[in-house]
Amino acid sequence: MGQGCLTTNNHGPVSVMWKTVSEACNLACDYCYYSRCGGQPDKIERIDTRILEKFIKEYMGMTTGFASFAWQGGEPLLAGLDFFKEVVSLQAKYAPKHTMISNALQTNATLLTDEWAKFFKQFQFLIGVSLDGPKHINDARRVTGHGLGSYDRVMTGIEHLRKHQVDFNILTVIHEHNVGKAKELMEFYEREGFTHVQFIPCMDFRSQETDKAGKYVITPEEYGKFLCEAFDVWYNNGSPNMSVRFFDNMASVYFNSEAELCIHRQTCPKTLVLEQNGDAYPCDFYISEDYKLGNVGIDPLSEILNSEIYSEFLEMKPALPEKCKGCQYLNLCHGGCPRNRVWDEEKQAVDRDYFCQSYLQIYDYAHQRMEQLVEKLKVR
Ligand code: SF4
Ligand code: SF4
Repeated sequence: MGQGCLTTNNHGPVSVMWKTVSEACNLACDYCYYSRCGGQPDKIERIDTRILEKFIKEYMGMTTGFASFAWQGGEPLLAGLDFFKEVVSLQAKYAPKHTMISNALQTNATLLTDEWAKFFKQFQFLIGVSLDGPKHINDARRVTGHGLGSYDRVMTGIEHLRKHQVDFNILTVIHEHNVGKAKELMEFYEREGFTHVQFIPCMDFRSQETDKAGKYVITPEEYGKFLCEAFDVWYNNGSPNMSVRFFDNMASVYFNSEAELCIHRQTCPKTLVLEQNGDAYPCDFYISEDYKLGNVGIDPLSEILNSEIYSEFLEMKPALPEKCKGCQYLNLCHGGCPRNRVWDEEKQAVDRDYFCQSYLQIYDYAHQRMEQLVEKLKVR
């Protein structure tokens, strides 16, 4: 998917997100940067076996009991099932004994078949399905190269996952067409039995430069209102019965744990985002020459992880703008994402995350009910 994907905390030395087939995708969602291939990629360039093996060998050599891979695109299923068979066999070949290997894969689900689902179940992949809501909302933007909606094919893909009891969650991009429809979306997830959901605000792909604050197609106020309305449904009179990542993260903090979503942790997690050709970056939001850490097909992994650029990147998130330092919700938010702040030429954050207003809105709105939730669960 081309809207970036927020990383979770990692348990090993580093977690890996790899763009399996570069930008190639069989859909042409109108908000996606990658959709310029028009849903009909001429040639699929998947990760080269030599680079894959070199990396997995080095990476597994550094793990301490846990290895985490996330496969992204474009559309990663275009790499073909044999590619992923190769992946799991190399992982098994090089993993030290007793290593827990986690594989996640983000897909538009339109190419999912029974065979894929069987494989994902066998190797316990966690599947993220991109779906923007019920048919009339999803099909307005998530379309094929011929402009046909993808909803029916996505739902068929989900049926395959269900049949084989594959764990999956729904990722919904929030844009102009669904930002005012939080309640409708939440009712849709409930009706369809989607128990794990996350939202990602839609970036404006036409204006992305890593030295400027990220631009979005929705306003902070719209997103704040969206979160508040979704919260009302999620809260369910103090008995939430589905997982919405943003609210789960908030609840974790109220229960004295740290959020797992990178934007609301104290520091960015150590992640390697790899392009199909092996070029390595610290985050999906920082894919540019300035942030290139090296290439995993050429450079030793230890050099990449210890690069100066990586250290400088990791220093950005804790360098909070003044207004965040005095914020009453700092423990929930931790200043959001550095990519969404305004930085000056000396690399000082001079203004808060673009979505600060949204966060303040939802934190104020949910505070009392979050406290009640904590009380309720404590007395049980
Ligand atoms: S810059 Fe940090 S907080 Fe923002 S998306 Fe990347 S890892 Fe997450
Ligand atoms: S809510 Fe706003 S002011 Fe508070 S920590 Fe987050 S970005 Fe900073």
